[in-house]
Amino acid sequence: MVFCLENEEPRLPQRSAMVHFQASEVQQLLHNKFVVILGDSIQRAVYKDLVLLLQRDSLLTAAQLKAKYLEGVLEELTYGPAPDLVIINSCLWDLSRYGRCSMESYRENLERVFVRMDQVLPDSCLLVWNMAMPLGERVTGGFLLPELQPLAGSLRRDVVEGNFYSATLAGDHCFDVLDLHFHFRHAVRHRHRDGVHWDQHAHRHLSHLLLTHVADAWGVELPKRDYPSETSEPHVRIRIVKKKKVITKKRKKLTSPRPLVTARPPVTTTPAGAPHLPEAAEPGCPPLGLESLRLSDSQLQASSSQSFGLGPHRGRLNIQSGLEDGDLYDGAWCAEQQDAEPWFQVDARHPTRFSGIITQGRNSIWRYDWVTSYKVQFSNDSQTWWGSRNRSSGMDVVFPANSDPETPVLNLLPEPQVARFIRLLPQTWLQGGASCLRAEILACPVSDPNDLFPKAPALASSDPLDFRHHDYKAMRKLMKQVNEKCPNITRVYSIGKSHQGLKLYVMEMSDQPGEHELGEPEVRYVAGMHGNEALGRELLLLLMQFLCREYLRGDPRVTRLLTETRIHLLPSMNPDGYETAFRRGSELVGWAEGRWNHQGIDLNHNFADLNTPLWEAEDDGLVPDTVPNHHLPLPTYYTLPNATVAPETRAVIEWMQRIPFVLSANLHGGELVVSYPFDMTRTPWAARELTPTPDDAVFRWLSTVYAGTNQAMQDPDRRPCHSQDFSLHGNIINGADWHTVPGSMNDFSYLHTNCFEITVELSCDKFPHESELPQEWENNKEALLTYLEQVRMGITGVVRDKDTELGIADAVIAVEGINHDVTTAWGGDYWRLLTPGDYKVTASAEGYHPATRNCRVPFEEGPVPCNFHLTKTPKQRLRELLAAGAKVPPDLRRRLERLRGKKN
Ligand SMILES: [Zn+2]
Repeated sequence: MVFCLENEEPRLPQRSAMVHFQASEVQQLLHNKFVVILGDSIQRAVYKDLVLLLQRDSLLTAAQLKAKYLEGVLEELTYGPAPDLVIINSCLWDLSRYGRCSMESYRENLERVFVRMDQVLPDSCLLVWNMAMPLGERVTGGFLLPELQPLAGSLRRDVVEGNFYSATLAGDHCFDVLDLHFHFRHAVRHRHRDGVHWDQHAHRHLSHLLLTHVADAWGVELPKRDYPSETSEPHVRIRIVKKKKVITKKRKKLTSPRPLVTARPPVTTTPAGAPHLPEAAEPGCPPLGLESLRLSDSQLQASSSQSFGLGPHRGRLNIQSGLEDGDLYDGAWCAEQQDAEPWFQVDARHPTRFSGIITQGRNSIWRYDWVTSYKVQFSNDSQTWWGSRNRSSGMDVVFPANSDPETPVLNLLPEPQVARFIRLLPQTWLQGGASCLRAEILACPVSDPNDLFPKAPALASSDPLDFRHHDYKAMRKLMKQVNEKCPNITRVYSIGKSHQGLKLYVMEMSDQPGEHELGEPEVRYVAGMHGNEALGRELLLLLMQFLCREYLRGDPRVTRLLTETRIHLLPSMNPDGYETAFRRGSELVGWAEGRWNHQGIDLNHNFADLNTPLWEAEDDGLVPDTVPNHHLPLPTYYTLPNATVAPETRAVIEWMQRIPFVLSANLHGGELVVSYPFDMTRTPWAARELTPTPDDAVFRWLSTVYAGTNQAMQDPDRRPCHSQDFSLHGNIINGADWHTVPGSMNDFSYLHTNCFEITVELSCDKFPHESELPQEWENNKEALLTYLEQVRMGITGVVRDKDTELGIADAVIAVEGINHDVTTAWGGDYWRLLTPGDYKVTASAEGYHPATRNCRVPFEEGPVPCNFHLTKTPKQRLRELLAAGAKVPPDLRRRLERLRGKKN
């Protein structure tokens, strides 16, 4: 986010969000203006309606109101007369045409369009970005190509995501945004039956909205008319300002490069328009635990709720709605519509010093709702209540709350209050909506109510480690410290740089750092590919401290681990995203900010899709004879110079190609579940479908090991994070059976390298508060260690040349019955993860006779050596002899002749 304020005061609608324009006024407004309208069929109607509004004596000819294809238009904008107004819409329904990676391609194109617009348009030009309008549940509009029809199911969700993304991006470019999804969310009766298009009334409404916006942007005084008051509804006492963030920006070109981190002030203050509360001099109290689920459902109560799925137990910060139509759960507590005095209450169960409240609106696919102001009350017995009063006036404070569904808003209490219960009493909420909120309460535990600064809560871990969040610099420093403390078993290296130039540091831990030792398997943990999922990063920083410390203390388990394996820890694959999230802070970062890299790329969708070429070859019966079932090459499109591959992705791919990794886990957050490949559904366009790999047994075992040793996942009393209960299936799930992810790191790792990788969703809270880190470390410590030890499960050995005893690189190890091979490293050593059992294993290499032997994986701890000696084929011997300039010995010549005879 960049500041775009040319004018200090945000541009807000005066008294009503919209003015009804008459033709003469439209003519006045657009007099001598050059207007360009770009977009889809909905935009064409926008254009038509504007022309109608202008009537026949229009000052603009129809030719001046243009609707053309983009590149031509851009060219014309560059060389033709400078436009005053460009109205463009998202064409979001067109997402379906982008194919499998639709959202990503859409983003790429959008970024390109915005950059081009920025280049082409003069500063004086106003660009209005029209967000996509709400789609119907059933989309039958003729635009969906027949083969893409199955995609329609996810389209509504994609539109919401795309809208969010496009509005953010438009904001970054300082373009104006008109949120038509918001304005037309309740106007469904004006939508055509095709689920996409809108009737003439809707379009006239749209034109008025648009013109109001343009007039406001140009500082033209709006026509004054008397409208019936919309503020007289009983429970709406304050007029709601429409989504402020989307109408405040004035177009202004940036002269300096975009700063790395957001230019927003730290958001620990109250938002604009709030009564000025004194800066809290005391340290902020930690969250009580609505988001982290430390508070149980029974501690949350409310005056009423619309349904079970909108009950008080859903009023937790960042809780996510179900993703499907008809889902039981939605993302908020919502009071009944007729509840005139709604309240939401938290029982802390102990005397507690309440210091602040964070609220969010409703997370939902179908509805917008948020509370715009609330009062706060406290009680010790839930009978007698007192309010939070303003120090000077003595009046109950009305706290300003949200202006969109997602952005968390913090209010610090004028004076902290010690009580057992805290109640939020919504005073106003989005017009036409319901009183819905998600909340977190900031509170310090109290033993003595007069003790203003109670001691920090006792750490939940006995390990003396650095339990803090580390930004880039602090992380680098910490890694250096670990390296200095344990120089013999550590090495810090970088695998490349982020888009903004931050290094991707790796901590290597092994008894011979910097070297691949023959027979020693390489394992890795990768965290933070989604920058806002911060727990994995800290767990890896804790793990490296722990391993160093325990090694120095001579702990036998850790010593063995470091002696027998080479461990690589990449705590931050997306440091740019993390810095964004870190600046915002653990409680205020929301759900999505910082997820993407700086280019807006989701790194977990950015790896090459090797599934499709493999499955196509399989369908044609070409695997494994013509097309191998492993080490699939990068597709050509992916290696082109203009391919959209993030620098972070590229760095990780090169790292994967350089080191013969065997096992990996990829640490995420926001759920509590372990998912394993494939991540992408085999049926094209299926949103969800069980898609196992040929190594399903191994992957299920690996996932079960992590899930089975993670204390949080094993807690029988815990409630599900959001809307799915993964504990019913052992807290593991096939990635594609959860939701399809094309271009995931796990699938790529499995199909392009020898490495088996799973995804661990570490906690419900993506960015847990610092005070949660000791407990999270305890939850995951055993799991992180045990998972690394799984690299011993399977067979391992060296494939050698029978004559020279030299290791053979790139020999293929095939296991009968499993259609996925692995290869040897450059020393001829290999690792094949397998569950216990007897296997028939074949080693083969170019120029050698293949060899097959039986190998056993015992239930006891492995690994069991399974070595191979391969004999050169006569042809290969001949080739080598000839290359060495030697004469061919007679016995070899005879054998070759015999062979030739056989073939003929
Ligand atoms: Zn993630």
